[in-house]
Amino acid sequence: MFIRWDDGHESRLSLNVVRDACPCAGCKGETLLMHSYDPVPSPDVPGKFDLLKAEPVGYYALQLTWGDGHSTGIYTWQTLRSLCSCPVCSGGISS
Ligand SMILES: [Zn+2]
Ligand SMILES: [Zn+2]
Repeated sequence: MFIRWDDGHESRLSLNVVRDACPCAGCKGETLLMHSYDPVPSPDVPGKFDLLKAEPVGYYALQLTWGDGHSTGIYTWQTLRSLCSCPVCSGGISS
């Protein structure tokens, strides 16, 4: 997926990376009252890495719907930006 940021930066994100970074409880697990829950890694079902839909959530996030029907992940812009692996964002080049 391709994102152009307000500051003019452009990110090309691999959908595999974005999906693996899904912040929802089902993918990332939850820690509730000292009990932590680790989700079983889901098998690579068909469509898992196909992005069907991206809908803005307020001004701060993007809700992504995947080809396997998964749509509970709300990605903040900050999360998406942190996934950018370009030399600038990974710290290789200081601007
Ligand atoms: Zn998820
Ligand atoms: Zn970048």
